[in-house]
Amino acid sequence: MSHNYAAILEQIAEHVATADFGTARKADYIPALSDVPDDHFAMVICGTDGEEHAIGMADLPFSIQSMSKVFALALAQRAYGDELWQFVRREPSGSAFNSLIQLEQENGIPRNPFINAGAIRVADLITSRYANPDRSAAEFLAQLCGNPNIRVDNDVYLSEHLHGDRNRAIAYLMKSFGKLDNPVEDVVRAYFKQCSIAMTAREMARACRFLACKGIGLDGKQVIPADETSRINALMLTCGMYDGVGDFAFTVGIPAKSGVGGGIIGVIPGEFSVCVWSPRLDQRGNSAAGIRALEMLIRAIGRSVF
Ligand code: GLN
Repeated sequence: MSHNYAAILEQIAEHVATADFGTARKADYIPALSDVPDDHFAMVICGTDGEEHAIGMADLPFSIQSMSKVFALALAQRAYGDELWQFVRREPSGSAFNSLIQLEQENGIPRNPFINAGAIRVADLITSRYANPDRSAAEFLAQLCGNPNIRVDNDVYLSEHLHGDRNRAIAYLMKSFGKLDNPVEDVVRAYFKQCSIAMTAREMARACRFLACKGIGLDGKQVIPADETSRINALMLTCGMYDGVGDFAFTVGIPAKSGVGGGIIGVIPGEFSVCVWSPRLDQRGNSAAGIRALEMLIRAIGRSVF
Protein backbone atom coordinates (compact mmCIF):
# COMPACT_ATOMS: atom_id res chain seq x y z
CA MET A 1 0.00 0.00 0.00
CA SER A 2 1.41 3.32 -1.07
CA HIS A 3 0.38 5.70 1.73
CA ASN A 4 1.70 6.12 5.23
CA TYR A 5 -1.30 4.46 6.80
CA ALA A 6 0.27 4.23 10.25
CA ALA A 7 0.58 8.03 10.39
CA ILE A 8 -2.89 8.56 8.93
CA LEU A 9 -4.44 6.26 11.55
CA GLU A 10 -2.63 8.09 14.32
CA GLN A 11 -4.00 11.43 13.16
CA ILE A 12 -7.49 9.98 12.97
CA ALA A 13 -7.31 8.46 16.47
CA GLU A 14 -6.04 11.75 17.88
CA HIS A 15 -8.86 13.67 16.26
CA VAL A 16 -11.56 11.25 17.36
CA ALA A 17 -10.32 11.26 20.96
CA THR A 18 -10.92 15.00 21.33
CA ALA A 19 -13.66 15.82 18.79
CA ASP A 20 -17.17 16.74 19.89
CA PHE A 21 -19.79 14.40 18.47
CA GLY A 22 -22.71 16.40 19.82
CA THR A 23 -25.80 14.36 20.56
CA ALA A 24 -24.33 11.03 19.43
CA ARG A 25 -25.08 8.28 21.91
CA LYS A 26 -24.95 4.53 22.22
CA ALA A 27 -27.79 2.28 21.15
CA ASP A 28 -29.86 1.54 24.24
CA TYR A 29 -32.86 -0.19 22.70
CA ILE A 30 -30.70 -3.31 23.01
CA PRO A 31 -29.67 -2.72 26.66
CA ALA A 32 -26.51 -4.88 26.54
CA LEU A 33 -25.04 -2.52 23.92
CA SER A 34 -25.11 0.47 26.26
CA ASP A 35 -22.57 -1.14 28.65
CA VAL A 36 -19.63 -0.37 26.34
CA PRO A 37 -17.55 2.70 27.38
CA ASP A 38 -18.10 5.75 25.13
CA ASP A 39 -14.44 6.31 24.37
CA HIS A 40 -13.64 2.92 22.87
CA PHE A 41 -12.18 3.26 19.40
CA ALA A 42 -10.44 1.02 16.88
CA MET A 43 -9.62 1.18 13.21
CA VAL A 44 -8.00 -1.50 11.04
CA ILE A 45 -7.09 -1.41 7.37
CA CYS A 46 -6.35 -4.63 5.45
CA GLY A 47 -4.66 -4.07 2.11
CA THR A 48 -5.38 -6.36 -0.81
CA ASP A 49 -1.60 -6.87 -0.85
CA GLY A 50 -1.71 -8.39 2.66
CA GLU A 51 -0.47 -5.32 4.56
CA GLU A 52 -2.41 -4.52 7.71
CA HIS A 53 -2.52 -1.36 9.83
CA ALA A 54 -4.34 -0.98 13.12
CA ILE A 55 -4.90 1.59 15.83
CA GLY A 56 -6.79 1.64 19.13
CA MET A 57 -8.59 -1.36 20.58
CA ALA A 58 -8.23 -3.41 17.44
CA ASP A 59 -8.28 -6.71 19.33
CA LEU A 60 -11.23 -6.05 21.64
CA PRO A 61 -14.40 -7.87 20.56
CA PHE A 62 -17.61 -5.85 20.14
CA SER A 63 -21.09 -6.57 18.85
CA ILE A 64 -21.08 -6.68 15.06
CA GLN A 65 -24.86 -6.12 14.78
CA SER A 66 -25.93 -5.14 11.26
CA MET A 67 -22.50 -5.58 9.73
CA SER A 68 -23.52 -9.27 9.88
CA LYS A 69 -26.11 -8.54 7.18
CA VAL A 70 -23.36 -8.37 4.56
CA PHE A 71 -22.20 -11.89 5.36
CA ALA A 72 -25.71 -13.31 5.68
CA LEU A 73 -26.39 -11.88 2.23
CA ALA A 74 -23.32 -13.67 0.84
CA LEU A 75 -24.58 -16.94 2.36
CA ALA A 76 -27.99 -16.40 0.77
CA GLN A 77 -26.35 -15.59 -2.59
CA ARG A 78 -24.46 -18.86 -2.37
CA ALA A 79 -27.63 -20.84 -1.73
CA TYR A 80 -30.06 -19.03 -4.03
CA GLY A 81 -28.11 -17.29 -6.80
CA ASP A 82 -30.31 -14.92 -8.80
CA GLU A 83 -33.48 -16.43 -7.35
CA LEU A 84 -32.70 -14.40 -4.21
CA TRP A 85 -33.88 -11.20 -5.86
CA GLN A 86 -37.44 -12.45 -6.08
CA PHE A 87 -37.62 -12.13 -2.31
CA VAL A 88 -35.84 -8.89 -1.56
CA ARG A 89 -35.36 -5.74 -3.63
CA ARG A 90 -32.29 -3.62 -4.24
CA GLU A 91 -33.40 -0.05 -3.61
CA PRO A 92 -32.40 2.33 -0.82
CA SER A 93 -35.26 2.71 1.64
CA GLY A 94 -34.87 6.34 2.71
CA SER A 95 -36.34 5.19 6.03
CA ALA A 96 -35.04 4.13 9.40
CA PHE A 97 -33.47 0.67 9.47
CA ASN A 98 -36.29 -0.77 11.56
CA SER A 99 -39.24 1.02 9.94
CA LEU A 100 -42.49 -0.87 9.27
CA ILE A 101 -44.33 1.74 7.21
CA GLN A 102 -42.75 1.06 3.84
CA LEU A 103 -42.99 -2.69 4.37
CA GLU A 104 -46.76 -2.40 4.76
CA GLN A 105 -47.08 -0.15 1.71
CA GLU A 106 -44.98 -2.53 -0.38
CA ASN A 107 -46.84 -5.72 0.52
CA GLY A 108 -44.24 -7.25 2.77
CA ILE A 109 -41.38 -7.22 0.22
CA PRO A 110 -38.32 -5.55 1.79
CA ARG A 111 -36.60 -2.72 -0.07
CA ASN A 112 -33.12 -4.18 0.37
CA PRO A 113 -31.22 -6.85 2.33
CA PHE A 114 -29.61 -4.34 4.73
CA ILE A 115 -32.66 -2.85 6.44
CA ASN A 116 -33.99 -5.08 9.20
CA ALA A 117 -36.93 -6.34 7.12
CA GLY A 118 -34.60 -7.44 4.33
CA ALA A 119 -32.13 -9.04 6.71
CA ILE A 120 -34.94 -10.89 8.47
CA ARG A 121 -36.13 -12.19 5.09
CA VAL A 122 -32.56 -13.25 4.29
CA ALA A 123 -32.40 -15.05 7.68
CA ASP A 124 -35.65 -16.79 6.69
CA LEU A 125 -34.13 -17.92 3.38
CA ILE A 126 -31.00 -19.13 5.19
CA THR A 127 -33.22 -21.03 7.65
CA SER A 128 -34.78 -22.88 4.70
CA ARG A 129 -31.48 -23.90 3.10
CA TYR A 130 -28.81 -24.21 5.81
CA ALA A 131 -28.62 -27.08 8.32
CA ASN A 132 -27.68 -24.83 11.25
CA PRO A 133 -29.19 -21.40 10.60
CA ASP A 134 -28.44 -20.12 14.12
CA ARG A 135 -24.75 -20.75 13.61
CA SER A 136 -24.18 -20.33 9.88
CA ALA A 137 -23.18 -16.64 10.05
CA ALA A 138 -20.72 -17.22 12.93
CA GLU A 139 -19.18 -20.21 11.16
CA PHE A 140 -18.87 -18.28 7.92
CA LEU A 141 -17.25 -15.31 9.67
CA ALA A 142 -14.87 -17.62 11.53
CA GLN A 143 -13.75 -19.04 8.22
CA LEU A 144 -13.42 -15.61 6.60
CA CYS A 145 -11.34 -13.99 9.34
CA GLY A 146 -9.31 -17.08 10.17
CA ASN A 147 -10.36 -17.35 13.82
CA PRO A 148 -12.31 -20.56 14.51
CA ASN A 149 -13.51 -19.17 17.86
CA ILE A 150 -15.95 -16.57 16.57
CA ARG A 151 -19.02 -16.79 18.81
CA VAL A 152 -22.37 -15.25 19.57
CA ASP A 153 -22.25 -13.05 22.69
CA ASN A 154 -25.03 -14.57 24.77
CA ASP A 155 -25.71 -11.45 26.86
CA VAL A 156 -26.28 -9.44 23.72
CA TYR A 157 -28.35 -12.24 22.22
CA LEU A 158 -30.56 -12.41 25.30
CA SER A 159 -30.92 -8.65 25.30
CA GLU A 160 -31.99 -8.69 21.64
CA HIS A 161 -34.38 -11.55 22.29
CA LEU A 162 -36.01 -9.75 25.23
CA HIS A 163 -36.22 -6.40 23.46
CA GLY A 164 -36.87 -7.59 19.91
CA ASP A 165 -40.56 -6.85 19.55
CA ARG A 166 -40.12 -4.42 16.68
CA ASN A 167 -38.16 -7.03 14.74
CA ARG A 168 -40.87 -9.59 15.54
CA ALA A 169 -43.45 -7.08 14.30
CA ILE A 170 -41.51 -6.77 11.03
CA ALA A 171 -41.38 -10.57 10.71
CA TYR A 172 -45.09 -10.98 11.48
CA LEU A 173 -45.98 -8.27 8.97
CA MET A 174 -44.05 -10.13 6.28
CA LYS A 175 -45.69 -13.40 7.39
CA SER A 176 -49.14 -11.79 7.06
CA PHE A 177 -48.34 -11.04 3.41
CA GLY A 178 -47.17 -14.63 2.87
CA LYS A 179 -43.59 -13.38 2.54
CA LEU A 180 -41.93 -15.39 5.32
CA ASP A 181 -41.56 -19.15 4.96
CA ASN A 182 -40.49 -20.28 8.43
CA PRO A 183 -41.98 -19.67 11.89
CA VAL A 184 -41.33 -16.11 13.11
CA GLU A 185 -39.53 -17.20 16.28
CA ASP A 186 -37.13 -19.44 14.32
CA VAL A 187 -36.33 -16.66 11.90
CA VAL A 188 -35.81 -13.90 14.46
CA ARG A 189 -33.66 -16.25 16.54
CA ALA A 190 -31.33 -16.80 13.59
CA TYR A 191 -31.35 -13.05 12.93
CA PHE A 192 -30.67 -12.08 16.57
CA LYS A 193 -27.87 -14.64 16.75
CA GLN A 194 -26.09 -13.26 13.68
CA CYS A 195 -26.40 -9.70 15.05
CA SER A 196 -25.04 -10.78 18.46
CA ILE A 197 -21.78 -12.17 17.13
CA ALA A 198 -18.78 -10.57 18.86
CA MET A 199 -15.68 -9.82 16.81
CA THR A 200 -12.72 -7.47 16.89
CA ALA A 201 -12.16 -4.67 14.39
CA ARG A 202 -9.15 -6.60 13.09
CA GLU A 203 -11.26 -9.70 12.51
CA MET A 204 -14.00 -7.71 10.80
CA ALA A 205 -11.56 -5.93 8.49
CA ARG A 206 -10.08 -9.29 7.56
CA ALA A 207 -13.48 -10.93 7.12
CA CYS A 208 -14.66 -8.37 4.57
CA ARG A 209 -11.41 -8.16 2.64
CA PHE A 210 -12.83 -10.51 -0.01
CA LEU A 211 -15.09 -7.62 -1.06
CA ALA A 212 -11.96 -5.69 -2.06
CA CYS A 213 -10.39 -8.76 -3.72
CA LYS A 214 -12.99 -9.80 -6.32
CA GLY A 215 -14.42 -12.37 -3.92
CA ILE A 216 -11.13 -14.06 -2.94
CA GLY A 217 -10.79 -14.72 0.79
CA LEU A 218 -7.74 -14.55 3.06
CA ASP A 219 -7.03 -18.23 2.38
CA GLY A 220 -6.92 -17.61 -1.39
CA LYS A 221 -10.21 -19.37 -2.02
CA GLN A 222 -13.15 -17.82 -3.87
CA VAL A 223 -15.77 -16.90 -1.23
CA ILE A 224 -18.40 -15.91 -3.78
CA PRO A 225 -17.94 -15.17 -7.49
CA ALA A 226 -16.43 -11.79 -8.45
CA ASP A 227 -19.67 -10.51 -10.00
CA GLU A 228 -21.63 -11.38 -6.85
CA THR A 229 -19.00 -9.47 -4.85
CA SER A 230 -19.56 -6.37 -6.99
CA ARG A 231 -23.26 -6.65 -6.27
CA ILE A 232 -22.69 -6.67 -2.52
CA ASN A 233 -20.49 -3.59 -2.88
CA ALA A 234 -23.19 -1.87 -4.94
CA LEU A 235 -25.76 -2.63 -2.27
CA MET A 236 -23.45 -1.40 0.48
CA LEU A 237 -22.93 1.84 -1.41
CA THR A 238 -26.65 2.41 -1.98
CA CYS A 239 -28.18 0.84 1.14
CA GLY A 240 -25.44 0.14 3.71
CA MET A 241 -25.85 3.26 5.84
CA TYR A 242 -29.67 3.33 5.88
CA ASP A 243 -31.19 6.78 5.52
CA GLY A 244 -27.74 8.30 5.89
CA VAL A 245 -26.48 6.63 2.73
CA GLY A 246 -26.63 9.73 0.51
CA ASP A 247 -24.67 11.85 2.96
CA PHE A 248 -22.17 9.06 3.43
CA ALA A 249 -21.62 8.65 -0.33
CA PHE A 250 -21.21 12.43 -0.55
CA THR A 251 -18.74 12.83 2.31
CA VAL A 252 -16.90 9.48 2.24
CA GLY A 253 -17.75 7.71 -1.01
CA ILE A 254 -17.05 4.02 -0.44
CA PRO A 255 -19.29 0.95 -0.07
CA ALA A 256 -19.85 0.51 3.67
CA LYS A 257 -22.08 -1.18 6.20
CA SER A 258 -22.76 -0.04 9.73
CA GLY A 259 -24.03 -1.77 12.87
CA VAL A 260 -25.62 -0.32 16.01
CA GLY A 261 -22.73 -1.73 18.04
CA GLY A 262 -20.80 1.21 16.52
CA GLY A 263 -18.85 -0.70 13.88
CA ILE A 264 -18.60 0.21 10.20
CA ILE A 265 -16.94 -1.93 7.53
CA GLY A 266 -15.99 -0.46 4.18
CA VAL A 267 -13.98 -1.26 1.06
CA ILE A 268 -12.15 0.33 -1.79
CA PRO A 269 -12.16 -2.53 -4.32
CA GLY A 270 -8.65 -3.45 -5.38
CA GLU A 271 -7.12 -1.49 -2.53
CA PHE A 272 -8.27 -2.30 1.00
CA SER A 273 -10.99 -3.22 3.44
CA VAL A 274 -11.42 -1.27 6.65
CA CYS A 275 -13.28 -1.63 9.93
CA VAL A 276 -13.76 1.23 12.35
CA TRP A 277 -15.45 1.05 15.73
CA SER A 278 -16.73 3.70 18.10
CA PRO A 279 -19.95 2.97 19.98
CA ARG A 280 -21.76 6.33 19.94
CA LEU A 281 -24.26 6.63 17.10
CA ASP A 282 -25.78 9.48 15.12
CA GLN A 283 -29.54 9.75 14.69
CA ARG A 284 -29.55 7.27 11.84
CA GLY A 285 -27.90 4.58 13.94
CA ASN A 286 -24.44 4.91 12.34
CA SER A 287 -21.24 5.43 14.37
CA ALA A 288 -20.61 9.19 14.50
CA ALA A 289 -16.85 8.94 15.07
CA GLY A 290 -16.69 6.01 12.65
CA ILE A 291 -18.04 8.14 9.81
CA ARG A 292 -15.64 10.98 10.69
CA ALA A 293 -12.72 8.53 10.77
CA LEU A 294 -13.59 7.12 7.35
CA GLU A 295 -13.98 10.61 5.94
CA MET A 296 -10.52 11.52 7.24
CA LEU A 297 -9.02 8.35 5.80
CA ILE A 298 -10.50 8.92 2.36
CA ARG A 299 -9.34 12.56 2.34
CA ALA A 300 -5.85 11.61 3.44
CA ILE A 301 -5.39 9.12 0.64
CA GLY A 302 -7.15 11.35 -1.88
CA ARG A 303 -9.49 8.81 -3.33
CA SER A 304 -12.88 7.22 -2.93
CA VAL A 305 -14.61 4.86 -5.36
CA PHE A 306 -15.63 7.97 -7.32
N1 GLN B 1 -29.86 -6.22 15.93
C1 GLN B 1 -30.16 -4.87 15.53
C2 GLN B 1 -31.63 -4.73 15.29
O1 GLN B 1 -32.19 -5.62 14.80
C3 GLN B 1 -29.38 -4.53 14.32
C4 GLN B 1 -29.63 -3.12 13.84
C5 GLN B 1 -28.42 -2.43 13.30
O2 GLN B 1 -27.28 -2.74 13.62
N2 GLN B 1 -28.67 -1.39 12.54
O3 GLN B 1 -32.27 -3.76 15.57
